[in-house]
Amino acid sequence: MSGIKLNHVSEISPQLLGANTLQFLSNLGGPTVIHIPGKDKSRCRVIVTLLHGNEPSGLKAIHSLLCDNFVPQVNTKIIIASVVASLTEPVFTHRMLPGKRDLNRCFNHDEKDLQHMLANAICEEIKACQPEGIVDIHNTSGSGPSFSVSIDSSRQHQAIASYFTHRFIFTDIRLGSIMEKDFGCPIVTIEAGGSQDTEADVTAINGIRAYLSADMLFAQAQELALITHPRRLELCKESSLHYGDHLNPAVDITLRQDIEGFNFGNVVQNTPLGWIKDNDLHHFHLDEPTQRVDDFFSIVDGMLVTKKHLVLFMITTRVDIAKSDCLLYFAEKP
Ligand SMILES: [Zn+2]
Repeated sequence: MSGIKLNHVSEISPQLLGANTLQFLSNLGGPTVIHIPGKDKSRCRVIVTLLHGNEPSGLKAIHSLLCDNFVPQVNTKIIIASVVASLTEPVFTHRMLPGKRDLNRCFNHDEKDLQHMLANAICEEIKACQPEGIVDIHNTSGSGPSFSVSIDSSRQHQAIASYFTHRFIFTDIRLGSIMEKDFGCPIVTIEAGGSQDTEADVTAINGIRAYLSADMLFAQAQELALITHPRRLELCKESSLHYGDHLNPAVDITLRQDIEGFNFGNVVQNTPLGWIKDNDLHHFHLDEPTQRVDDFFSIVDGMLVTKKHLVLFMITTRVDIAKSDCLLYFAEKP
């Protein structure tokens, strides 16, 4: 048993819902499971959201559907995870509590800190209801369009993703995220779009409504564009980073302020991404040590440029997230 308890909510009162999403979240107070009975009580689906406290689109969508007295097709469990990080001032800006581990990197092994215990409690809760499908809803920290991520590209995984988005990323990267766990059913991560983008809120609510309304869960809702095995471009710990419109000589790397505009855009060979002070790629490494940074990127006239036609995504302009997580993900253009 894990040593952490989730709140359980099965009565949805106007007092609990409050006047807005933030009031609703403060009324929850901590990590919570909401149980919503469906028309068919023999099956269950799960939604996980707010594993990252600064990614509110899934929470806003849930709040709105609860306010509408939405009735799902099958029994539904909604797990709202990083409530405390999210409520920490300034609200909806902390991916995790300051100084604590990233909760969505704590699903791979047993450690005794609170984040791992919370991850374990979430897993036990999911396993107990033997769901037919799970979605984990996130936002990207940078602005950009929606996409889905999975460690399996089966027809079932793709069908679940298709309720939300037409972009499907099949990844071999293992970070300790919830989608890497075996729950006996497909689990897909949904990146609804940037946390500041209103379009992401629309994607989340339309997607959740479709995912919870479908009788046959594995009937594909739209055709998907597949991206296989992206890599992460990571920054070395000691290298300093800034975002701006020109070289900042006080730091090692200045990435373009408008770099988020490349999310899923057409990034042809020789596209400049920023400036490198000492003309050296050693500031970067990839998550996969058998592959080399200089196969994909090079330095031309002091600028970091792409060496191939690439798809870039998960680009952020938040230095803290770029340094603690990664600068961006990329794959060769199919
Ligand atoms: Zn996230």
